[in-house]
Amino acid sequence: MRTRQVIVKELPKGALFGDHFEMSEAELPALQDGEVLVRTILMSIDAANRAWMQGATYREAIEAGDAMHTGALCEVMESKSPRLAAGDIVFAESVWADYAVISARKAAKMPRVPQLSHLMSVFGIAGKTAFHGLVSVGRPVPGETVVVSAAAGSVGVYVGQIAKAMGCHVVGIAGGPEKCGWVVDELGFDACVDYRDPAWSKTLKGACPAGIDVYFDNVGGAVLETVLFRMNERGRIVCCGAVSQYDASTPNGPRNLPGMVVVKRLRMEGFIVMDFAKDDEKALRALQNWVASGAIKVPEDIVEGLENAPKALIGLLSGDNRGKRMVRVGADPS
Ligand code: NAP
Repeated sequence: MRTRQVIVKELPKGALFGDHFEMSEAELPALQDGEVLVRTILMSIDAANRAWMQGATYREAIEAGDAMHTGALCEVMESKSPRLAAGDIVFAESVWADYAVISARKAAKMPRVPQLSHLMSVFGIAGKTAFHGLVSVGRPVPGETVVVSAAAGSVGVYVGQIAKAMGCHVVGIAGGPEKCGWVVDELGFDACVDYRDPAWSKTLKGACPAGIDVYFDNVGGAVLETVLFRMNERGRIVCCGAVSQYDASTPNGPRNLPGMVVVKRLRMEGFIVMDFAKDDEKALRALQNWVASGAIKVPEDIVEGLENAPKALIGLLSGDNRGKRMVRVGADPS
């Protein structure tokens, strides 16, 4: 059986471009014991995809010539594993392709839900990352001020809405006045500050009159440096990611570390969403309740077509997504 797939033709040295990818066709290998043939429905497009091209992270690095790696919602078409059967919906470590042969161990069976895309957004890695990072690492209490960067991104939209539901004063940081307006008007944050505005440090100070207790950092770099100056003593910084550094050739900032951490007695802690897998059920129950009550909205940004996956990733790195970005490759099962 043949499939279309998108190959990483060359690894980027600086910014990622369309020329780094190539659409090709490949013959799928014959199914071996323990493997499944899957049909791709939705592929997750994440800032982390770019980080995987920089070398091994919490997972193996992508090499030139590889089909681009992704997390994807897929339908099992054929199975040689007792763990999965044809017709099952799985979230799998897969590749940018219409079809793939993968190890059944790299596929988790998903429940049938009315809206499949929610398994990728609010009930997927984005929602769980926001919940675990904020609740277990940031540990905000009602009345505290929570700031989150990449506030309109797939994780940020939930961090802010969860913090609001927990009774915090919530301030987002995002690129551009229109995006910031959307974060306040659509998602209900108390304020959102445009980090591209040269005067943004002052605006952040005004938006956080009682200082910052919890900063959920998705971007690192210059934004982290600025926020550090506004942290309250004993504040917590949740290190979730550093998207400002993924597409850059030289790392940049923050220059005030560890000085600010010492002087303000800050706790700065990184985490990976899988660290809290034992609490996933608790997270999902809480998220389901908030979605059902309307306390949390689920913005999704779905790009159509496998061939548009490179553009979708490049665009996400320059901030053209609102909420969880995905690429639709195939129809939901009927
Ligand atoms: P996303 O939806 O992929 O959005 C990324 C956003 O980052 C863009 O929309 C852009 O929005 C912003 N951005 C890009 N370049 C920037 C820069 N130079 N400075 C400031 N902002 C910039 O993001 P996501 O999926 O929510 O991921 C957010 C972070 O969480 C990433 O660092 C990712 O690696 C990390 N993550 C970590 C875990 C974990 O387990 N620790 C799990 C999932 C994700 P603007 O228009 O606002 O610039």
